[in-house]
Amino acid sequence: MQAILVINAGSSTIKFAVFAVEHNEPKKRYTGLIDKLLLEPQMSIKDLKTGDKKLIAMYQQGESPYANAFNSILHWLHDNNIELIAAGHRMIHGATKITESVVLNDEVIKFLETLNPLAPLHQPYNIQGAKIAFAKYPKLFQVACFDTSFHTTARELSQLFALPKWLTEEGVRRYGFHGLSYAYVVDQFENYLAPKIVDGKIIVMHLGNGATMAAIENRKSLATSIGFSAVDGLIMGTRTGSMDPSVILYLMKEHNMGYDEVTKLIYKDSGLLGVSGISPDMRDLLASDSKDAKLAVDLFCYRVAQWIGTLSMELQGLDALVFTAGIGENAAPIREKICAYAKWMGAELDTTKNNANESEIHTSNSKIAIHVIPTDEEATIAKDTWRLLQQNK
Ligand code: ADP
Repeated sequence: MQAILVINAGSSTIKFAVFAVEHNEPKKRYTGLIDKLLLEPQMSIKDLKTGDKKLIAMYQQGESPYANAFNSILHWLHDNNIELIAAGHRMIHGATKITESVVLNDEVIKFLETLNPLAPLHQPYNIQGAKIAFAKYPKLFQVACFDTSFHTTARELSQLFALPKWLTEEGVRRYGFHGLSYAYVVDQFENYLAPKIVDGKIIVMHLGNGATMAAIENRKSLATSIGFSAVDGLIMGTRTGSMDPSVILYLMKEHNMGYDEVTKLIYKDSGLLGVSGISPDMRDLLASDSKDAKLAVDLFCYRVAQWIGTLSMELQGLDALVFTAGIGENAAPIREKICAYAKWMGAELDTTKNNANESEIHTSNSKIAIHVIPTDEEATIAKDTWRLLQQNK
């Protein structure tokens, strides 16, 4: 079997997917995870045909935990007679310069490394994946697909901070993330939305562990809730979302916190976890009867509602609200709370359809369509990798 390997390499986990290329089209066949990369790495692979999930022994012959991890994936492919024809990498940052997926080579990698300071918690690890694969297979066709590129069409005013010009010129501005998810969902519009609104004014809410929203018109991003970094905008599992920057000054002065401590506080200890004191996981909060769990849920929905306001102003109208990702696709009570805030605008939820997790969840009287569209970031990467492989043959 010929396959494309899709890699999402993070600081402590590597998520991957194997897309079999059949009938000239990549189709997802396996998904995998290497967890606890720096402690006791564990690799698990799920066969999507049979539903079986197995733990796979790690191959311990690289010079670093990352090399071990990639070698383990490559060995598993080899042992299962899977011929790797290309690898597609999730890359967090292409800044304003990279507007679409690119074929990787030394020069591109060098440029991407210059963007490390913009996303120090993601970009170096994303790049590491490609470098290790090249070390093993120098001729492998590798592609980088960017979380930022979908948002390079956003309005300049929506992207600027009111900072001195030299900082803006240095690249301190809003970029927008989750672009691979938005690209997939926008590709699905035709399958879900009424034809007259497919090119209309649409707010997509990617509500998962990371949570962002985008204003989309004519299938292009006009503005987004996130951010110079992945900590802006909505409340997330463990990240604050937008916050007065003086809170950081306060922490530095009154609590003597340095860079690492502040980073941990705003990225790992805050958000749903910080407010609830219980869990970053929405399922746990919805199942809990604690007051603080309820507060975390309420704050999450309130912040989403605030962004519906901002983004509908960006769009100068609203044809549809679209929910996606773990919470957006599965949590009916969260969708209900959010839609209640938008009722005055004419968005009317059909609670029976919503509770049944249907994909069209508005009432017949609703002036604004409300939909659930499942996302698949890996599919965007596989599709772009396959397209570029065909173009470069
Ligand atoms: P990631 O950003 O890690 O890809 P996901 O898109 O998988 O995240 O979303 C994870 C979030 O989705 C978690 O908060 C999880 O609790 C939530 N979630 C998944 N299924 C449900 C469900 N049935 N009800 C409520 N929340 C859910």
